[in-house]
Amino acid sequence: MARTSSPAYRRIPAVDRIVDTPGAAALISRTSRPFVTFLVRRVLENLRRELAENPEKEWPAPTLEDHIQQALQQEFRSWACPTLKKVINATGVVLHTNLGRAPVGETARRQLAEVASNYSNLEFDLGRGSRGKRDVIAGRLLETILNCPRALVVNNNAAAVFLILNSLAEGGEVLISRGEMIEIGDSFRVPDILRKSGARLKEVGTTNKTHLSDYRRGFSDETRLVLRVHPSNFKISGFTSKPSLQELSALCASRSVPLVEDLGSGCLIDLEAERIEPEPHPRESLSRGADLVCFSGDKLLGGSQAGIIAGSSRYLQRIRQNPLFRALRLDKLALAVLESTLIAYLTRREELEIPVVQMIRMDAGRLKKRADDLVARLSGLRTDLTMEVVEGASVIGGGSTPSQSLPSRLLRLRSSATSAAGLEAMLRQSDPPVLARLDRDAVLLDLRTVFPADDARLADILSRIGR
Ligand SMILES: *Cc1c(COP(=O)(O)O)cnc(C)c1O
Repeated sequence: MARTSSPAYRRIPAVDRIVDTPGAAALISRTSRPFVTFLVRRVLENLRRELAENPEKEWPAPTLEDHIQQALQQEFRSWACPTLKKVINATGVVLHTNLGRAPVGETARRQLAEVASNYSNLEFDLGRGSRGKRDVIAGRLLETILNCPRALVVNNNAAAVFLILNSLAEGGEVLISRGEMIEIGDSFRVPDILRKSGARLKEVGTTNKTHLSDYRRGFSDETRLVLRVHPSNFKISGFTSKPSLQELSALCASRSVPLVEDLGSGCLIDLEAERIEPEPHPRESLSRGADLVCFSGDKLLGGSQAGIIAGSSRYLQRIRQNPLFRALRLDKLALAVLESTLIAYLTRREELEIPVVQMIRMDAGRLKKRADDLVARLSGLRTDLTMEVVEGASVIGGGSTPSQSLPSRLLRLRSSATSAAGLEAMLRQSDPPVLARLDRDAVLLDLRTVFPADDARLADILSRIGR
């Protein structure tokens, strides 16, 4: 057999022998013997696997023992450094679900650090000197900004949808248009959430058309709620229709059934200048007759992960009294960031303080200048890379404004030493990792989603990769 015929394979020492070496003893003094034994086992398992695959394998280390020691130190480092870390997002997808969605601005970051590393009045009323509720922290700002009687925040928008359905429709029926029976990503499916909430789904209309009469016919004594879902990550175009919110609201009011709109991204900015089809503003949905709206805190709002529920006090009272509210409540760090983000909107400083808003508003001229500067920085160096600035497009992402893009200028990279896929992998494995777009035989970098403060760092990474 290949594995036993390898001399190196037979020379692999026993776990205990490695644990007793000075290198391992130094690690034990910093951690514990069981942990180091665990690391040694992993190192030796990897070694056996490598030798089984390639019996002639050699390492840069002079001896097998040296190689094991180096691998042990490396294994330790991989456990002692956080795996969650900063990356440079050069994909041009502003709300990149895999890259943590909305980054937090400087003001929110300071507020986050202050609250995180101190005690705070999270549930303490400083005026009265007695117990308070965390609900008021973001609630009062949301009520002002959205011009509504009451607002609550929970852990995320999926939790908000679930909590609304469970509080207001458990045991009864919920009407939803067939055109809105959507999956949002990572298995958030409207029908599944609805079933788990204890409500029964009643679909009305067809995939492309739902009329007011379809809703009217759908009502029964069992109807507890009508749900509208903003189809954020796809678009049905062509022969489509649905009743206006006003029409639907009048029908719901006549049956005393709440109309709830899940808006998904919760856009508080005007996207007209960007010539993007507007996302529904939560304030408008409420003024047009939705009893409740819900949306995410870390999509177009640009804050922390949160689910915001706003609208009628009567319904929000029932939601607040649901024992599940406690299980789904927002953490204090997310609350600190959300409050800071909402203050930026209230004081009209969103373009100064919220990175997502800055990135969306950054015009192609500015992006071209930054891309040109980057090329200029690298032009004097001997490099394998060829770079050009080309026209292209960024997308907002995060399930907002489907199929709509922002004009951008991209840095198109090719390497004479490696393929585009190879170049993309080198960028991804640099420090910090740079995530780029692959476009057939080239790699594209979109500076829209790169913080300008990281441009120099990016130039540095490119100069090292090209050598
Ligand atoms: C994104 C989205 C959700 C889920 O929101 P999270 O904050 O990610 O939990 C729910 N509904 C719609 C329409 C969405 O776009």
